[in-house]
Amino acid sequence: MPPIIDKDKCIGCGICAAICTMDVFSHSGKGHSPEVLYPEECWHCRACTMDCPKGAVRLRLPIPYRLLFVDSATLRQGRRV
Ligand code: SF4
Ligand code: SF4
Repeated sequence: MPPIIDKDKCIGCGICAAICTMDVFSHSGKGHSPEVLYPEECWHCRACTMDCPKGAVRLRLPIPYRLLFVDSATLRQGRRV
């Protein structure tokens, strides 16, 4: 499922569009919120959500991704906390 941008939080910096290797976003310039142009290309890497300085990008993970997701912070020293 594609990312969703909260336009009330977004400052139009364009970082999410620049970081996305799949070119999901279209960004027309500083100060403008990017548009999700190719939602089907999103492979849910979460780079846009992690790099957005305003926490304005939300990603809805498909159910299979949610079931398989493991937070890497819980894997320190080879064990789950
Ligand atoms: S990184 Fe965040 S604040 Fe910057 S354009 Fe994208 S959604 Fe807006
Ligand atoms: S989750 Fe990854 S592939 Fe999807 S829009 Fe964000 S940066 Fe692009």
